[in-house]
Amino acid sequence: MASKIVEAHNKRAIVTGGTRGIGRAIVKELASRSCCGVLFSDVAFVYNSCDECAEELIKEIDFPGTKIYGFKADASSMDQAQATVDEAIQKLGGVDILINNAGITRDNLLLRMTEKDFDDVINANLKSVFNYTKAILKPMIAQRYGRIVNIASVVGLIGNAGQSNYSASKAGVIGFTKSMARELASRNITVNAIAPGFIQTDMTNKLTEDQIKKLVQNVPMSRLGKPEDVAKVVAFLCSNDADYITGQVIAVDGGMTM
Ligand code: NAP
Repeated sequence: MASKIVEAHNKRAIVTGGTRGIGRAIVKELASRSCCGVLFSDVAFVYNSCDECAEELIKEIDFPGTKIYGFKADASSMDQAQATVDEAIQKLGGVDILINNAGITRDNLLLRMTEKDFDDVINANLKSVFNYTKAILKPMIAQRYGRIVNIASVVGLIGNAGQSNYSASKAGVIGFTKSMARELASRNITVNAIAPGFIQTDMTNKLTEDQIKKLVQNVPMSRLGKPEDVAKVVAFLCSNDADYITGQVIAVDGGMTM
């Protein structure tokens, strides 16, 4: 009798910027719930500076059957990205999912924005996406399977005064996403972007109550988003239910940009 061979291993994911905010919620979501037709994902996350955040996260994800690894590396460096991906693949036994989430802001009106603020944001938010995508590409192409999700922003769609560096980086992520989707579709690798609206994380904690009130007035759902609101869409895009979705930008913004 013919028997069906079922893929036995967990899915294996690399998440940049995994220690705080949206990235942390993504790591937890992928590691804890049924994803991609198997029960859990093993996850390697990358962070830049906060060792305590990484240690806490590893302690929190104490799910039987799930492996979790933290890597301290600057996502804007190609050399560090390649070394991290090589080691992560060795530990995970391969890679099926890449989530490009690492990002920073250095807000200012253009008149006051320094060249360093512009370069730092482009490097952390856009070059990092190039670095990690390039570093995982050969193994994903060889196995004819991959799911890549890039975390962009609504600001990359509609712009924002005081964020010319950030919105340029996120618009770049969207263009990169669509080009990669076209390059990789025939290899069964999907590439999508999520454009979160304003989500409650350290990034938005800098805003005053007054600024938040004003922002929320433009959100039909009248609230900021939660990191989990984004993480659940990431998990969906990595699941078998999203096999025929590529090159899309999904806004998770409470209706703000419709
Ligand atoms: P966050 O709370 O500030 O966390 C950022 C994460 O990225 C941290 O884990 C940080 O690690 C890591 N990181 C930053 N620069 C890095 C680098 N060069 N190399 C490696 N890791 C780096 O940010 P968030 O609000 O969760 O944002 C996550 C993503 O969503 C970003 O791409 C952001 O642009 C996007 N986004 C956020 C919002 C929002 O409202 N929060 C809205 C739209 C889009 P360390 O702590 O170790 O530095």
